[in-house]
Amino acid sequence: MTQQLILALSKGRILEETLPLLADAGLRPAEDLGKSRKLLFDTNLPDVKLVVIRATDVPTYVQLGAADMGVAGKDVLLEHGAEGLYEPLDLEIARCKLMTAGITGAEPARARRRVATKFVNVARRYYAEQGIQAEVIKLYGAMELAPLMNLADEIVDIVDTGNTLRANGMEPRELMAHVSTRLVVNQASMTMKHERIKPLIDRLRKAVESRRVAAET
Ligand code: AMP
Repeated sequence: MTQQLILALSKGRILEETLPLLADAGLRPAEDLGKSRKLLFDTNLPDVKLVVIRATDVPTYVQLGAADMGVAGKDVLLEHGAEGLYEPLDLEIARCKLMTAGITGAEPARARRRVATKFVNVARRYYAEQGIQAEVIKLYGAMELAPLMNLADEIVDIVDTGNTLRANGMEPRELMAHVSTRLVVNQASMTMKHERIKPLIDRLRKAVESRRVAAET
């Protein structure tokens, strides 16, 4: 019997960039993901299924072995922790930066800094490394609002073009990490299903490499 492989995909912006890359590697959903309310999909490969879930849930599914592999942003992986996960491939899509940001022209608070973010673990580590005392406030969205409403002095958030910050009177400050989307694999699956997983990783790696070559020429 062939072993079934489950690949967990992050919904939203990352998904839009992931599907063409998977197609380049020869893996296609059996139906249009956008037109369905389903969460579990067959693919053109009989033993591979896709699940489409919240980006922040992907590491959990893969870590606990509910999915064998996953596609997740480095931001989410840094926040979640990588125990039980291999990260064999940078898919080089959905690139952005994890940054601190504050109100344009305002001096960063000198005493205990109030920092609003959904990346509380990343933020705590970062400010501790910088020797800055920080009170980290967990928010689930619209971080840009927090300094304007005097809920926080600074935010930690994902920045791509910087337009969202500028539109809210804010500016990027410190670069914390470069972010791109990664392929992650459950460590037990990597051993038990190596013969099936290895060729998929190789095909994805080739697809990433040929895109890189095409972008450089
Ligand atoms: P921008 O205005 O281009 O700087 O985009 C910033 C907003 O878009 C952020 O607040 C994020 O929520 C979202 N965003 C941009 N790039 C990504 C990405 N690669 N992954 C997830 N969210 C992103």
